[in-house]
Amino acid sequence: MLTLSGIHTRYPGATGFALEGVTFTVERGEVLGLLGPNGAGKTTLISHLAGILPLQQGSIGVDGQSLQQSRKTHPARIAVAPQEYAFFPTLTVCENLQCFGAMDHGAASSSDPLKSRISRALSFAQLESFSGQRANTLSGGLKRRLNLAIASMSDPDYLLLDEPTVGVDPQSRAFLLDAVRQLASDGMGVIYTSHYMEEVEALAQRVVIIDHGKVLCQGALNTLLASGQTELRFEQIGLSDINVRNVLQNYGQVQSSRQLIGQSSEQCSGQVLLHSHYQPGQVLLALEQAGARFVHAEFGRLNLEQLFMQLTKRSLRDN
Ligand code: ATP
Repeated sequence: MLTLSGIHTRYPGATGFALEGVTFTVERGEVLGLLGPNGAGKTTLISHLAGILPLQQGSIGVDGQSLQQSRKTHPARIAVAPQEYAFFPTLTVCENLQCFGAMDHGAASSSDPLKSRISRALSFAQLESFSGQRANTLSGGLKRRLNLAIASMSDPDYLLLDEPTVGVDPQSRAFLLDAVRQLASDGMGVIYTSHYMEEVEALAQRVVIIDHGKVLCQGALNTLLASGQTELRFEQIGLSDINVRNVLQNYGQVQSSRQLIGQSSEQCSGQVLLHSHYQPGQVLLALEQAGARFVHAEFGRLNLEQLFMQLTKRSLRDN
């Protein structure tokens, strides 16, 4: 198990902490989604785990050893596929694998000969037919696959993937997600950071959401989503936007309520996050009693993106 405990980090000259008391665990065989808006602290955390940035306060344990000890005895136990392309652009796919494989050959968890690890990596990332192609001439999706092949080649126990699907087409994305699932089901612990919430929702068993360097929430994805509020969406005829808002204010937080342009003056759509003690039926009934006739209504628990936006109070941030 990977154990992060009470991690505090402040960059030189910075007024605040980049990480403040971050604590969570990652088990082997699971995908943990690490989410946060821009600047939340994800890259700082990954840099600590990769051993690039020394810890200032707090600890990281790897299967009972400190990170420092573990890096000495098993240097390849934690591997990273960074956001940037991490290969030599003018070498071919195969030359890159040979080069990185030779670098961590002695350190690799597996005792397989280098040649068989290269052919396993080519096959895992389905790069066999591109093995003689120069890396800088690969498509975006193939470059991401090469990044993943290099990171997984040393057969690490834990793999950190920092935005591994940025700039790839849907086919390559589906391939990469399947590959990550495969690695976890083979027993690797995967930390997966992404701004694509639907990817994390499809992959992760547990999630950690951070912002301003602090953990806002963590837990099993299903539990977190089930504990969130219910959202009700509807379209109705008969009540004006203002009347809808008046009725809804007692039942939840109105996300939007607007007159539908081009429709009869009294057709309106609305979206409300229900207070936990109200059921959707009660709200629909109250609106109906006030004069609404429903054209459409749907409700359900929040998805990960909505939960994320609720917790961080935003979906994107540029600072
Ligand atoms: P993104 O999603 O944009 O990659 P992030 O979640 O990875 O963001 P970090 O890059 O870890 O966030 O940054 C966390 C905080 O630390 C931010 O406020 C950032 O401005 C600050 N920071 C990051 N690197 C440095 C640095 N080298 N020196 C000073 N401050 C830094």
